Amino acid sequence: MSTVAFIGLGNMGGPMAVNLIKAGFTVKVFDLVPAAMQALAEQGALTATSACGAAASADIVVTMLPAGKHVRSLYIGDSDNKGLVDVVAAGTLLIDCSTIDADSARFVAKHAADKGLEFVDAPVSGGTAGAAAGTLTFICGGSDSGFGHAQVALKAMGANIFHAGGPGAGQVAKICNNMLLSVLMVATSESLQMGIDHGLDPKVLSDIMKVSSGGNWTLDKYNPCPDVMESVPSSNDYQGGFMVDLMVKDLGLSQEAALLSNSSTPMGALARSLYVNHARQGNGKRDFSSIFEQFAPRSSE
Ligand code: NAD
Repeated sequence: MSTVAFIGLGNMGGPMAVNLIKAGFTVKVFDLVPAAMQALAEQGALTATSACGAAASADIVVTMLPAGKHVRSLYIGDSDNKGLVDVVAAGTLLIDCSTIDADSARFVAKHAADKGLEFVDAPVSGGTAGAAAGTLTFICGGSDSGFGHAQVALKAMGANIFHAGGPGAGQVAKICNNMLLSVLMVATSESLQMGIDHGLDPKVLSDIMKVSSGGNWTLDKYNPCPDVMESVPSSNDYQGGFMVDLMVKDLGLSQEAALLSNSSTPMGALARSLYVNHARQGNGKRDFSSIFEQFAPRSSE
């Protein structure tokens, strides 16, 4: 089995790396947070003292980082630091699973290609539960050969693997999806709260809407109302999951993309505004389903 370097062991990357270990890969990890590496070492990973150290001897590099600036600087480096494209061996496949702007993905893919390396953008959908269960959806952009080569690692972490198109196409498809997700989460939250305001039990209302025309992923898998569903962030004070700050980032990306293509995205624009406001009220590190609280009466009311 080949060696995978896994860089970025946060809410998503940690469990994804565990699934690679379970599938029999030798996994060498690096994260800026030592505790995140320690947790993976306890699961059987080797640890490195730098990202380049992890990647230098790998057959495949997987990164799962917050945003485009992290991905660019890690892969390309700067005047003081080498990038991953400078240190990996010939033939190493580079896979970035972070959600970033398509331009950054294309920029890194171009630098990789200049060094004779394949780079695949492979952002994911499915949340932390999907990362833990190994059932993520991977939405890939890159060449046919890069996509084909990536399958062996992606299959160990996901259930659905799509090839959206050339470099950056995975990122475009991903932000279309997340713009829709944010709108669904806001609309589900306001609908549930209106039902509660009229005396309905949110669990009963959720069961009704799930099998009616308002049914959607947030009701099926990620109910935003506390204690309607077990093992989701809303039933754990909105801890873990997908941070509001990351949703704000993704909605910024989708609005930038809309400007570039002159697309009309009024719902995405409104969702971004609501999420920015929510983050400004101190909710940036909480799960994105906490937007539900924007519709609930305050305790003093
Ligand atoms: P996170 O903040 O929990 O994890 C990011 C990790 O990257 C952190 O552990 C951080 O220390 C590490 N890191 C940052 N810069 C680094 C560097 N230079 N070298 C090594 N490690 C570095 O974020 P997350 O929730 O795991 O999300 C990661 C990416 O996946 C984001 O782009 C996000 O938009 C996307 N995503 C998240 C979810 C979700 O449900 N959380 C779902 C789909 C996609």
